Amino acid sequence: SGSASGSTIKQVKLERESELRIEVDSETPLKLRLLNGSAEIFGSELAPEIWLTFPPRLKFAVFTWYGATLEMDGATETDYTADETPMVSYVNVHAVLEGRRNRAKASSSNDSEASQGPRVIVVGPTDSGKSTLSRMLLSWAAKQGWKPTCVDLDIGQGSITVPGCIAATPIEMPIDPVEGIPLEMPLVYFYGHTTPSNNVDLYKALVNELAQLLETQFARNAESRAAGMVINTMGWIEGTGYELLLHAIDTFKANVVLVLGQEKLFSMLKAVAKSKPNVDVVKLQKSGGVVSRNAKFRQKARGYKIREYFYGLANDLSPHSNIANFSDLLVYRIGGGPQAPRSALPIGADPVANPLRVTPVNIDRDLLHMVLAVSYAKEPDQILSSNVAGFIYVTDIDIQSATTLQQSRWLCSVVSGKTVVAMAEKTVLCCK
Ligand code: ADP
Repeated sequence: SGSASGSTIKQVKLERESELRIEVDSETPLKLRLLNGSAEIFGSELAPEIWLTFPPRLKFAVFTWYGATLEMDGATETDYTADETPMVSYVNVHAVLEGRRNRAKASSSNDSEASQGPRVIVVGPTDSGKSTLSRMLLSWAAKQGWKPTCVDLDIGQGSITVPGCIAATPIEMPIDPVEGIPLEMPLVYFYGHTTPSNNVDLYKALVNELAQLLETQFARNAESRAAGMVINTMGWIEGTGYELLLHAIDTFKANVVLVLGQEKLFSMLKAVAKSKPNVDVVKLQKSGGVVSRNAKFRQKARGYKIREYFYGLANDLSPHSNIANFSDLLVYRIGGGPQAPRSALPIGADPVANPLRVTPVNIDRDLLHMVLAVSYAKEPDQILSSNVAGFIYVTDIDIQSATTLQQSRWLCSVVSGKTVVAMAEKTVLCCK
């Protein structure tokens, strides 16, 4: 362990069933390659001899089933080898899921029950390795030719798109160890906050929408139905967080619940599953390699994730700025908004905001530096049930000329390349 200095190349020999755990330096990237043997990063195999460049701050492990020699070039915060990992238990889960996929594929597609592959949901506290396990299960399945659906319900540290969203996307190839989950055709619903307690009803409503949409897709596509899905969840497992887990299990009709690193959660879910004979609840060990990230780190990570959306992981995208008239954009906010004043209500009644109400937002300086989602909705009342096309970042608002709508300008950065932003749709959701 310790820091490698400068750009000295270092060789690491890994014994079978061991891994090299790395935290890349906070400023400089790290290069790494497989010299000989075979190795994988979170379920995705490394090609021999090709240098991979890992961005600053990335935390990952290179695991080998049969032994490997690696070469590293660059500084790390830490790097050490570990021979105690839960990988054998993880790959055993994968084998069971493979069996279910094969059975689903072999059954007649008229039987919607039997032709449905495993619907796996991964639960556990923050930093228990949920995202990592989800990723491995998806990559191992993709390696064997399946196209499982990746669902990410973690609005705080989601792996698919910007924070504040729930999303799903098919995984057709093992997930790239550097690039992460591909962003080609994700189904994204915009929640607009990073904590679900902000608007629990909205969170649930969006989970319902996403599940319904996937259900329709599965009904039409036997291949993806048989491959099933892997659902990653939030680390909030107490109180309302726990209720939201149960809600997700029911809504997505999950039939395999993988519980990482928490005995209490496991026994609670096990008890719940007694009344659901087709739901298997499985306890899995947390990997000792999982790195705990404090609140500050998480917040920073969210910022980087938004940056990455617009500029690409290696600054390789150039978002183009676009100027739009105020009149060309309709901005709405879900929930919140002005409530009925107390004086307008019957005596004793509390002014309760309708959490699912869609309210128009005035374009003013308050929108500066906000990330707005561009909705596919054609009308405001479709916003809640519509997924989003992409995001815009408000870099400037020209209020001076706002008196005449024609001249008012709203400058936004819109990413091109990775995700198509449907500016023409005119409906923009608002993130607080
Ligand atoms: P969770 O989804 O439960 O919050 P993650 O799967 O995101 O946890 O893991 C937390 C961090 O630890 C991530 O940065 C991940 O890349 C890292 N990590 C997970 N497993 C390992 C490992 N075996 N070695 C090194 N880093 C790991």
